[in-house]
Parts: sequence; structure tokens; C-alpha cells
Amino acid sequence: MVVISYYINSRATFKNDIAKIKSNKFNAIKEYGLNKGSQGYGKRKGGKVNFELANNFGFSLKKNSKDNTLRQVAYLVWKEVKMFVKATTVDRNHTRNLIYLMVSVYASSENGMLFNALLLIDIINKIKTLSQVLSIFNENKIALASTLLLFGVMLYIAAFYSFITFRHDFGNSTQEEDYDGDFQMYCRTLVECLTTTINIGIRAGGGLGDALGQPEMNSPTYSNRYVFDFLFFMLINIILMNIFFGIIIDSFADKRAHEAEVEIEVQDSCFICGIQKSTFEIENASWKTHIFCDHNLHSYMSFLIYVKCKSSSECTGIEKYVKQCLSRGIIDYFPIGKCLAIRNGASIE
Ligand SMILES: [Zn+2]
Repeated sequence: MVVISYYINSRATFKNDIAKIKSNKFNAIKEYGLNKGSQGYGKRKGGKVNFELANNFGFSLKKNSKDNTLRQVAYLVWKEVKMFVKATTVDRNHTRNLIYLMVSVYASSENGMLFNALLLIDIINKIKTLSQVLSIFNENKIALASTLLLFGVMLYIAAFYSFITFRHDFGNSTQEEDYDGDFQMYCRTLVECLTTTINIGIRAGGGLGDALGQPEMNSPTYSNRYVFDFLFFMLINIILMNIFFGIIIDSFADKRAHEAEVEIEVQDSCFICGIQKSTFEIENASWKTHIFCDHNLHSYMSFLIYVKCKSSSECTGIEKYVKQCLSRGIIDYFPIGKCLAIRNGASIE
């Protein structure tokens, strides 16, 4: 129900977005044709070939086939289904709804009971703060991934070294009856050594050395273990772990600072001309009159929509200028740093 109602609600937006993508593609093809002299490609992409192909297979998908109402209905249904699928490429919420539907259908089966719990992850989408947390991971993915890679390399080196030097210190309860460690340690092969190092090395508070059997002073591996345990703790448990957490915490702080900056900018300066509230106080001009009357955001917005919808042959000189600027993406027509109430419209830096 949610999927269908969301689809019906946003159908017009989807249609618009898909048409936009299509026209962009078509323009690209047209430009390609103009530059390279290959007009035929653009023509073929016009859609005629597809209809012919469908006819060959016994379907009549023509828009105006009057001979059969059923075929017309089938055409409409086919078009709707095509748009439904295409909408997944333009709208994230539609895709999410579809995935949610599929997961919940699977969850209602006997094998998918766990998926009922997994569906609760959807709160990330419902609560804005949580989606911001997730976006931090997305924004810093390269930094986080490279730190994790370095983590992996360091752990591999540690595992390799412990495998060739003191693999017998990795006792486990099946081999040694008197072993009373908290962890099960395995190091018969390099892979076992690596998995143990990754799992235990990170979880044990004092690094891998905490979980390994402690060598005695006169043991030949004592000095090796002394250096190894200390370096493992320093490099992996302290430095690398903190680099990893530091990236996340720093980006939280950055994001909060940026949001505060934006909020101050929105509250303390005019959206149209960008002049600060304090300037109005210094020049003894009314701030409220300025933002609600002189530079009213909604008036500007409605003017832009009005100009966009008007045909250029009916536009006055000013409207035509703004229309041209709009089509080119230029914002020179905004009175940036200027306002009639202050210094009679002279530019304020
Ligand atoms: Zn203003």
C-alpha cells in the first residue's frame, strides 16, 4: 500500500525526472550528431525501431491502435510498469519502499524471521539525526577505508611475526589442559593466526600480549615478546584505533560547526542581498521591513516562476533579461550587496 500510494503521489515528479533524463540523453545524442555527423543514431533512438520490433513479435504496442481495446489497455499497463521500474533510478524513497516491501515479504516466510528485526533499521530514514550520522561515514569513506586497510596490514604483519616466532604461546584449552586464559587462541596455520590476531588483538584491552601466555624471564622468546607486545599495544590499540575514532569524531564536530554557521547565515543576513542584520542596525534601517517587504523571498520566488512560465515574446525588457539569466544559470539580476534602504542602493562590501 505504501509503495503504491507513494508511487501515485509522486508519479508526476517521476514522469518529469524521467523525461528530463531522456531529453538530456537526446540532447547529448543530438550534439554528438552535430559534431560527428552521425544523425542516424539520434533517429534510431527516437523509438520507432522498438515499435517495429514489438510488432514482429506479435505485440501491437502502438499508441493509437484502435482495432483492439484490450491491446490499448495492455499498452497502458506496460507503459505504467516501465515507468514504475524506471522510477527506481530517479527516486531513492521509491527504491527504499520497494526494497522494504521485498524484505517484508521474505520476512513473512518461515526462513526469514530475522529479517523482521532487520526491518527496524528503517528508523535511520525516519530520524533525521541518524541519517546525518550515516552521511558522516559516507563523506569520509576514503579516509576510513584507508585507515582500515592500514589496520589490516599491521594486523597481518603482527600475525605473520607471531606465527614464525612464538606460535606456541598461542595455547588453547583443547591442546593444553592447564591453560586458563580467557580467550581461545589458535595458531596452527597462518590463517588461524591472522583470525585470532584480528579478533583477540583488538578486543583484548592490552592488545594481543594480554591474551597470549606470558613467557618467563629466562625464556628465549622473552625479549621478542616484550618488544612485540608493547609495539602491538602502542601501534594498533592506541594509535590506529584513535586515528579511526578521531576521523569520525572530528567529522561530527565539523558537521555541527558547519550547521551552526549555516543557521547563523540564514538568521542574520538577508537571503536576497546577503547584507548582515548588524549593517541595518548601524545604518538605522528597519531589518524586518527589509526582509518582509523590500527583499521578500517569496516575492522573488513567485517572480522567477512567473518569468519562467511566460513566453519570451510576451516578456518586458526586464523580464526578458531575467529569463535569459535564468536559462544560463547566471544570478547577476539579484541585488547582491545592494539595497535601496542603505546608502540609496550603493554596493556594500
Ligand atoms: Zn536584502
